[in-house]
Amino acid sequence: MKDTYAIVGAGFSGAVLARQLADAGHPCAVFERRNHIAGNCHTERDPDTGIMVHRYGPHIFHTDDDVVWDFVGRFGAMRPYRNRVKATVGGHVYSLPINLHTINQFFGTALTPTEAEQFIAAQRLEIAPTNFETSALASIGPSLYEAFFKGYTAKQWGCAPTDIPASVLNRLPLRFTYDDDYFTDHHQGIPEQGYTALVAAMLDHPQITVHLGTPFSADDIGNWRHVFWTGRIDGFFDYCDGELSYRTTDFAAERAMGDIQGCAVMNHPDPATAHVRSTEFKHLTPWESHDQSIVFHERPRDCGPNDEPMYPIRSPQDKATLARYIDRAHATPQVTFAGRLGTYRYLDMDDTIRESLDLSAAILSGAPAPNFSVEPL
Ligand code: UDP
Repeated sequence: MKDTYAIVGAGFSGAVLARQLADAGHPCAVFERRNHIAGNCHTERDPDTGIMVHRYGPHIFHTDDDVVWDFVGRFGAMRPYRNRVKATVGGHVYSLPINLHTINQFFGTALTPTEAEQFIAAQRLEIAPTNFETSALASIGPSLYEAFFKGYTAKQWGCAPTDIPASVLNRLPLRFTYDDDYFTDHHQGIPEQGYTALVAAMLDHPQITVHLGTPFSADDIGNWRHVFWTGRIDGFFDYCDGELSYRTTDFAAERAMGDIQGCAVMNHPDPATAHVRSTEFKHLTPWESHDQSIVFHERPRDCGPNDEPMYPIRSPQDKATLARYIDRAHATPQVTFAGRLGTYRYLDMDDTIRESLDLSAAILSGAPAPNFSVEPL
């Protein structure tokens, strides 16, 4: 096994690494503790309705990176898809992300783009944008913030929006046109056969073996040429410095004939509604036709030891804990930590793939394996 790379985790991070190393002729063994590949992008057909569901919440692929887009396209057809999100607030439905339609709907106005810009400028608070809340108040003012962001963010993250970094707000555009595309990237789509089929094609290579339902023991690292660990970094070190905190999500399925909510993604920012987001999956595959429908209602909560970690919280205490694990990783040169869980960062799929492409290119160029795909702090 000394000539074989061990790759722990069969999500995008691990699968891309395995494929690139295997294409260069190197044997790779992929270990996945769950009984499926594709990590939290895993898709499968709901047995009752036949609709492709995203088991861990909706994933829409979007990127400005041509290399990443072309790479993904090698493993399955991508169907064009534009994410047009709605939000139910106070008994009304609004357009998201906040755009000219949202502003005119919410304030009962018919402002032009220039008028809306002036109007929002007058709403803004002069406040240092040091966290999610103050950044939002400085960007859109209190009325829109309280309606669309405050409740959603408190429910999503389980803490005060002042404790959430401003970088999370940067995920959400503000537009003074009627463009309601949730993402701005020029490549956007959904794999025709789902993400799991795409990742299966990536892993389908004579130099790759995949071991499902097989946790990898950190005690085994000496048996391999090198180990790439895309699982939780705190898990690798047996949580010896404490747990890094994550939010996880419970998904409640609702099935019915016809159409349940009329769009793929409906957000629920109202604090009184327990769930934050509802996804009607058949609208994510408009090229298919289904008489029945299925919606997942998402209810976030703190992640316990037996839950799937989804969103890294990265509180100041988490960052202090992470710093201790980073020191340990630097003292473990046989292992490279990569991906969302390995580096404890809130990563989109395209960034995850780009980082694994870059990491594999560095390894193949003969550079010493780094401790991290990207330094986490
Ligand atoms: N957010 C919000 N209201 C919304 C949508 C998002 O306040 O209607 C905030 C919330 O804090 C969320 C973050 O913006 O966690 C990022 O939203 P995104 O839609 O990117 O979340 P993801 O799809 O990654 O769950």
